[in-house]
Formats: sequence, structure tokens, C-alpha cells
Amino acid sequence: MGILEGKKGLILGVANNKSIAWGVAQAAKREGATLGFNYLGDNMERRVRPLAESLDAEIIAPMDVSEDASIDAFFDTVKAQWGELDFIVHSIAFANKDALQNPFSETTRADFHLALDISAYSFIACAQRAAPLMKAGGSMVTMSYLGAERAVPGYNVMGVAKAALEASTRYLAQDLGRSGIRVNALSAGPIRTLAASAVGDFRKLMEKSARGSMLGRNVTQDEVGNTCVYLLSDLASGVTGELHYVDAGFHIGAGDPGIPE
Ligand code: NAD
Repeated sequence: MGILEGKKGLILGVANNKSIAWGVAQAAKREGATLGFNYLGDNMERRVRPLAESLDAEIIAPMDVSEDASIDAFFDTVKAQWGELDFIVHSIAFANKDALQNPFSETTRADFHLALDISAYSFIACAQRAAPLMKAGGSMVTMSYLGAERAVPGYNVMGVAKAALEASTRYLAQDLGRSGIRVNALSAGPIRTLAASAVGDFRKLMEKSARGSMLGRNVTQDEVGNTCVYLLSDLASGVTGELHYVDAGFHIGAGDPGIPE
């Protein structure tokens, strides 16, 4: 019997089969969960629908987190179809490429708002609509990165957005804990995905992360998925407001110490 047997949950943020959310979806399905997915626009639907169908998804519906009406419509569908919810996985972020390639000190007001809105506020927006459906308690997990805590070259305004996301995780955990809802964040090491390709010099970041990690390598989409599934499950019933690293131990080290291969 899987650790998510009997649970219904939403995987928010699959773009393609390289997405971290797809790693989570596969692990959650393997552990017995019934899944629902969102997609962003018609372009994404073409990729997401076949993937979701391959995991027998019961809900596959559009949601653009930049619009309240779109978020409402998505959660109305979830309410009509399931009436209840056990977990959500928020794996959504966006920043203008310019804001990641230009010096951080040149960040515009518009780029700051956009990054914070899509990458941090959207977790709050989804949580406030998911919580009333979590009648028997629940679990929410979002995806962060070390750039929230350290100045990582090329991560720029997304690091500020992740700092806001991590703080939001703690405040949501505070608000929702008495309702039996746990809220946690994963801090994943770098993985080659669509979103990651916008980060300046991502290839170098991956090399440095592998060299500076305790395991001497980068993590996989599946490793993030497996850890996420633990946080979604009752095995983590005493864990909330936590930032859990899945980065092969990079964050405990002194960075890239230049250890020869
Ligand atoms: P990805 O491109 O596969 O996923 C990002 C998702 O965000 C996409 O599905 C995209 O459709 C969605 N999205 C963007 N704007 C949206 C909007 N307005 N409405 C709805 N959805 C929207 O890339 P990923 O790397 O899997 O990213 C998932 C999460 O993991 C992000 O929060 C990212 O910051 C985080 N993360 C990624 C890495 C990495 O190295 N790839 C490391 C740590 C954390």
C-alpha cells in the first residue's frame, strides 16, 4: 500500500516531462494518490494533457495564477468534482528573462512585481482556495531554491521572490496549522528545466552545485518527487513550516571548494 493511498491532490506547475512537478506527480501516483493538474494556456495543454492522462488524472483544467478569476475557476472545478482535497503541490515560478540576465541592481518595479506575484503570491492565492476543501486536514508543499538565502549569480529577483515564498510558507503554516493543514517548502538543487533555462549561466551553476555538494552530484527530478511525497503523506504529520533541502547537501558546505573531479 502506498503512502498516499486514498488521498486526492493537485499538482500545480507541470509544463513538460522535465518539470519538477512531473517528478512529484509520478511519485505521488506510484504511492496511490488520485491527481488533478492545471496547465497554463493552450500551448501548455498540448504537453500537459497527455502526461496527466497517463497518470489517470481526474482533473485537467486551465489556471493562470496571475488572474484571480482563473484561480477561482480552477478551484471551483476542483470543488465541483471532488468536494474535498488532501494536498496541493505548488511548483510555479516566473520572472522576465531580462531581470535574470541584467545586474540585480537594475531590476525594474514591473519585473519585481511580476516575479513576486507569480512566484510567491500565487502560493498564498492557491492556499486560500485549497484550505476550505481540506476538511480532514491536508498538506501543501511549494518549491524554493537556495537563492532565497544567498546571493547566487544570475538568480537575482527570483531570489527575492523565493525569500518571500519561504516566509509565506511559515505564515501559512501558522494560519492553517490549527485546521490540521501543514505547509512546507522544498529547497531543490538545480535541475535542467524550462524555468531553469531563464537563469543566467545555469550550466555553470549546475557544475558548481555538483562539485560543492556533499554527494558530489546534482539531484534528480525523481529525488525531489520522492521527498515531496513524504511531506505530503501522513509520515510527515508532525512537520510544518519547514524548509527541507533536496540539494545533495550543497547548502551545508562552503560552496564550490574546487575539489578536483
Ligand atoms: P518548469 O518550467 O517546468 O515549471 C514552472 C511552471 O510554472 C510551468 O509549468 C509554468 O507553466 C508555470 N507557470 C509560470 N507562470 C505561470 C502562471 N502565470 N500561471 C500558472 N502557471 C505558471 O520549471 P521547474 O524548474 O520545474 O520549476 C518548478 C518550481 O521549482 C519553480 O518554483 C522553480 O522556481 C522551482 N525550482 C526549480 C529549480 C530548478 O533548478 N529547476 C530548483 C529549485 C526550485
